[in-house]
This record gives sequence, C-alpha cells and structure tokens, in this order.
Amino acid sequence: MTSAQSATATIFARMKAGNDARRTSFGLAERRAALDRLADMVRRNETAIIAALRADLGRPEAEAVLMDYLNTLQEIRHARSHLHRWMKPRRVWPTLATLGASGRIEVQPRGTCLIIAPWNLPFHLALGPLASCLAAGNAAIVKPSELTPASSALIARMIAETFPPDLVAVVEGDKVVAEELLALPFDHIFFTGSPAVGRIVMAAAARTLASVTLELGGKSPVIVGPDADLKQAADWITFGKFLNAGQNCISPDHLYVHVSVKEGLVAALRNRIARAYGNGEASPHLTRIVSPGHAARLAALIADGLDKGARVLLSGGQDGQAVGPQLMEGITPDMRLAQEEIFGPILPIHSFDSIDSVIDAINAREKPLALYVFDRDAARIAEITRRTTSGAVGVNLTLVHYSQLNLPFGGVNGSGIGAAHGHAGFLAFSHERAVLRNRFLLLPILFPPYTPRVLRLIGLVKRFLG
Ligand code: NAD
Repeated sequence: MTSAQSATATIFARMKAGNDARRTSFGLAERRAALDRLADMVRRNETAIIAALRADLGRPEAEAVLMDYLNTLQEIRHARSHLHRWMKPRRVWPTLATLGASGRIEVQPRGTCLIIAPWNLPFHLALGPLASCLAAGNAAIVKPSELTPASSALIARMIAETFPPDLVAVVEGDKVVAEELLALPFDHIFFTGSPAVGRIVMAAAARTLASVTLELGGKSPVIVGPDADLKQAADWITFGKFLNAGQNCISPDHLYVHVSVKEGLVAALRNRIARAYGNGEASPHLTRIVSPGHAARLAALIADGLDKGARVLLSGGQDGQAVGPQLMEGITPDMRLAQEEIFGPILPIHSFDSIDSVIDAINAREKPLALYVFDRDAARIAEITRRTTSGAVGVNLTLVHYSQLNLPFGGVNGSGIGAAHGHAGFLAFSHERAVLRNRFLLLPILFPPYTPRVLRLIGLVKRFLG
C-alpha cells in the first residue's frame, strides 16, 4: 500500500467509525450549519472558481457563473430550506393485515459516501451532490476529475479549509485513485460520468453491495415537428447545444427535423449561431474543449462522417481545443457521429417525414437522459412523450429542466440509475427505514399451535383478505 493509499484508508476508516455518532449528533441544526458553511465557501471563492474554470476550460465568466456557481448555490439553498420537512418521519396508513400497528418511514443517513465527479461542470457536479449528501446527514469523500486540475485543486483546498476531514475529504487523482477508492466498503456511491465507467463503478459496488446513484450520459435527441415555432426552436437549440461547447450530459446530441421545416430551421440556426458566436472557434462566448484528446476525438468524428458521405452545413472551424459550432447532415448509422455520445459542438441534422421513424430510431437506442420536442401541436407532443422514454422531456426548451429542483434529475438504464437534485438528491443519500409499532395487533390469535379454532379463524381471514 502506498502512503497516499494508506492516508485515504485512514480518512475512510475515521468517517466510517463516525457513522453511529452522526446518526444522533448530525441533526437538523448541524446539517443546516454544514450547508451554510458550504454556501459561504462557494461565495467566498467565487473569483477563484471563475479563474479555475477559465484555466481548465476557457469558460466564459457568464457560463461559469450560470452553470457552476449559481447551480451549486441553488442546490444548497433548496436543501437548506426544505430540510426540516424532508427529515420528518412520515406516517403511513395501516393495511388490513396490520390493523392495530402504526407504521412510519424514518429517513436515515446512509453513512459514508463516495462522490466521483466528471470534468464538464467540475464544481457543480462535485459540490451539488455534496450538498445533498450533507443534507442527508452523511460523511463523504469527493473525487474530482483529473482532467480539470485547477478546479480539482481548488475544490481540495476549499473543502480542507471548511470541513473536518472526518466529515468531508477530497481525494484527487485519476482512474487509478478512483479504483482504489471503489475497493473501500462505502455505504453509497454517487457517480457522475460516462456510461462506460458507470458500468465499472456498478461492478465495483456489487463487491460490497454499496448502493449506487449513476448519473450518466448518452445521445439526447431533439425533435422539431412541422408546427414548431422555428425562431424559438433555433434560440433554444443553439443555447442547449453550444453552452459549454456542447459538453453537457443533457446537451441535444442530434436533431430530427420535419422535412417541411428543415430549410427554415437551418436558416434560423445559422442566424442564431452567427449572432451568439460570430467568430466561430475564436468566439469569446464559447467554452473550450477540455483536453487535446477530446478535441482530437471531435475532429475524428467529423472526419469519419465526411469520409462516409456526411455534409457540412455550417463549420465554425477548429483551432486546437477551440472548436466552433458545426452543423452536419447526411448522417448514416455506420458513422461514429450516429453511434457515440458527441459531447461537443457538433449537431447532426436528420430530416423526417413520419414521426414513427423518429420514434423507432429513438427506441432502438439506449434510453436517453433527455429528449426535447419543439412543436405547437399538443397531440404530437403527447404522442412522442407517450411512445418514448428518457430521464426527462423538455418541451419547447432545452437544458433548463436541470435547474428545476422540484423535479428529479436522472437517467434510465443506459443513461443512469437513480436521481439527483432537491428531494430526489436527499433521498439518494438516505435510507428510508420502515418502522412498525404494535399498538393492539390481533395477529397473536392466529399464532400456533394450529388448533381447529385457529384454523377456523385463518379460514375467516382468508375469506376476508383473499
Ligand atoms: P468519465 O466517466 O470519463 O469520468 C468521470 C469520473 O470517473 C472522473 O472523476 C474519472 O477520474 C473517474 N474514472 C475514470 N475512469 C474510471 C475507472 N476506470 N474507475 C473509476 N472511476 C473512473 O466521464 P467524463 O469524461 O469526466 O464526463 C463526461 C461523461 O459524463 C459524459 O458521458 C456525460 O454525459 C456524463 N455526465 C453525466 C451527467 C449527469 O448528471 N447525468 C453530468 C455530467 C456528465
């Protein structure tokens, strides 16, 4: 065991040893105080957070504030203000078989949790789950992504200054460190990242039977129907696809547009993109691609498409990690663009005649994290919604369901397991314990020995309940 490994094992052992004490000593007041400390920490470090995001991702200040800073503070504030209600035990109605007993659900902390975060919203996706985790009364080890080193170092420093290491600790590093952490018997693992690594995390959790929340990604489609407001669609698709240069789990991945409005939509998209990102790859309003490796991956996706017959409708250019908006058409199923999560500012456009073909194409893939529909025809929106499944549906908008904290946020199977945000996030880090208390249960009259009288009573009960 290396010294770093043994330091992590010591932190973990201390946290785990505190599980019992935290069940009683980490109550409403203490959890609120922890959330206040977390919010203060974020506010005090606003400038440093913006600078780290600029260093790691060239992220414009507006996007740093909107995505990482405000989303994190909103999650903390929401948890703090609802915590009293979320923590209260809930009484349940008796069933016929348990008449005479009172039942309630008590919400307990899971214990010691592991939060593994990705790089695309390095602060929000580490500290947002941490807010839910602390609200639920747990201790946590947080592992930020190694691909955003300035953000990772800042998270480590801020947390060390704010929390005792037996409550919250940050362990920095790459997949080797993540694998070492996954070998420890955590009570819950909250993972945000790719479906491929999600499988590795779930397999590791199976060894200790740790519960998991997997916030994954995938190919989220957007459908523009024949009755869509094209200006509205272009505004929201441009925002959704190119915010953070398309490096969001719920960015529209590809677009299906009804053949009758395709030309109009492409023209509206060109206008909107030109207005937002006039200089293409050189625009100061566009976030950079996180690493040379990911920039090369995007270039390879485009090259593969072009080789196999795809056409470029608009190219914002590429200069290393600066990649401008790209619109492409003529996409066929054998292209990587049609197969892999794009996670960058490339939007493949497919046109369709019949909505059945779009629904079939969506249902033939992994269930997406988000599905967006632009249309004014309520019946068509209802049909698409009814015949497909996804983590969430956005109607005449993109992305913003992420910030509606009264909605659960999560995927289905290939796009994730479990949910985050608000009450759903609190429950992800909680165990709902069933408590049933005997007041005047009549069941003992049916206890053995099974005399003729008891058997007659069982017969009666069977007639009544069977
Ligand atoms: P990733 O899966 O490569 O990495 C995520 C984290 O897992 C990092 O901290 C990384 O160090 C760690 N990791 C890497 N290999 C590992 C291994 N073998 N064992 C254990 N841990 C390992 O994902 P990424 O590239 O950082 O993020 C992009 C992906 O995340 C996309 O698929 C995106 O859709 C998804 N995502 C999902 C959400 C959501 O809320 N559902 C949010 C953001 C990103």
